[in-house]
Amino acid sequence: MKLYNTLTRTKEDFVPIEEGKVRMYVCGPTVYNYIHIGNARPMIVFDTVRRYMEYKGYEVNYVSNFTDVDDKIIKKANEEGVSTDEVTKRYIEECIKDMKGMNIKEATTHPKATEEISGMIDMIKTLIDKGYAYAAEDGTVYFRTRKFDSYGKLSHKNLDDLESGHRKEKEAIKVTGEDIKEDPLDFVLWKPKKEGEISWESPWCEGRPGWHIECSVMSKKYLGESIDIHAGGEDLIFPHHENEIAQSEAANGVPFSKYWLHNAFLNIDNKKMSKSLGNFFTVREISEKYDLQVLRFFMLSAHYRSPLNFSADLMEAAKNGLERIRTAVDKLNTVEGKCKEGPADGAVSGAVADYVAKFEAAMDDDFNTADAIAAVFELVRYTNTNIDESHTKGDVKLAKDTILKLCDVMGIIAEKEEEMLDADIEKLIEERQAARKAKNFARADEIRDELLAKGIILEDTREGVKWKKA
Ligand code: AMP
Ligand code: ZN
Repeated sequence: MKLYNTLTRTKEDFVPIEEGKVRMYVCGPTVYNYIHIGNARPMIVFDTVRRYMEYKGYEVNYVSNFTDVDDKIIKKANEEGVSTDEVTKRYIEECIKDMKGMNIKEATTHPKATEEISGMIDMIKTLIDKGYAYAAEDGTVYFRTRKFDSYGKLSHKNLDDLESGHRKEKEAIKVTGEDIKEDPLDFVLWKPKKEGEISWESPWCEGRPGWHIECSVMSKKYLGESIDIHAGGEDLIFPHHENEIAQSEAANGVPFSKYWLHNAFLNIDNKKMSKSLGNFFTVREISEKYDLQVLRFFMLSAHYRSPLNFSADLMEAAKNGLERIRTAVDKLNTVEGKCKEGPADGAVSGAVADYVAKFEAAMDDDFNTADAIAAVFELVRYTNTNIDESHTKGDVKLAKDTILKLCDVMGIIAEKEEEMLDADIEKLIEERQAARKAKNFARADEIRDELLAKGIILEDTREGVKWKKA
């Protein structure tokens, strides 16, 4: 299995630190709103990487955090007049619902930054003891970037270029008199609280951690000092991942992550989809129009390191592609019920094995899901034209199970879900109305979410509750 390592800028053979095991950390979302489909890209592609590793027999310890302390969260809480805790709890719950909808496997551990503060304080202390960090007069703790010799090795930047980039900033800082860093390249590990902000006691000041130290600490706690894979969107290469390497390697004295994987952006009109540009669709919005399996299929139809432009046309193409696979599986189910008992014969087994080999070759080549999907389509075409009632049950089952299995490696559910009957939907809506009357809003919401997961959207109107299928 080869994967492209941002650290070496080459495709390398995957050799885990410990045989048969993979330790993998994926930077998770900052939870102050519903996640958008740009945030969904790393979730889907790295969940697929994990699934493929498991398919190959590795035991994967998969850790993905929630960043639940951040300026944007504090701002949102202030706007709503609620605690940051209330904001993050709400959006973590919503994010988990979206992840379930996209068939993303639960991580082995989903740590939250606010629950790991003592580990962060410990690592910062170690960095200060080793001379890699210092506290400024106001209690801010900075990392001494120039002291870490290989700074820039991930993003392939050199310190002098970075220095000149910082010159303007330096001038501006001098004017405001905030020149408390030893060097403009130094970055924050701990910062003092501002009025009304969430904070923790520390040896330096009451305050909160910088973003980068969070991931270094959570990765170490749940996976150990050296891990196999660290991943995230390409915007995280610099400064986030560069700084994580500096902190972890300076503190632990061993290499941090062997492989660094980064997905390219999901764009809209060729611009990065982002909350700050306002050009985004939330996963929730998409779920009202499409089965989220279509979104997953769309994401995997491109290689993870290629930019992907979101469009209604591509979503329709994904919908049709998925439907083609599901129809083939449906047909195989019908055929299986009609044909005679017997094992798979050599011809079908041989053909199926060829498609599996093609699929694996594509995935072994830096997780080329676009080609892997093409191999599944070829298998589908083969079964559509070659497999009928004259075959044995063994043949039909082998073809069907192979399609289901390969799709499952990509998190695609290839079996058609049984549609809910109208009567069942109406019954649930009645139950929801009763729950609301009894002020059992939790149950009412649960029913709404359960229906949404099945593609049923409820609308509360003056004439009562109306529903439609997405
Ligand atoms: P954030 O919530 O901004 O910290 O982002 C969470 C994850 O989503 C990170 O791995 C980002 O790199 C990734 N991400 C954010 N926007 C996009 C996008 N438009 N395309 C692909 N990945 C993205
Ligand atoms: Zn991170």
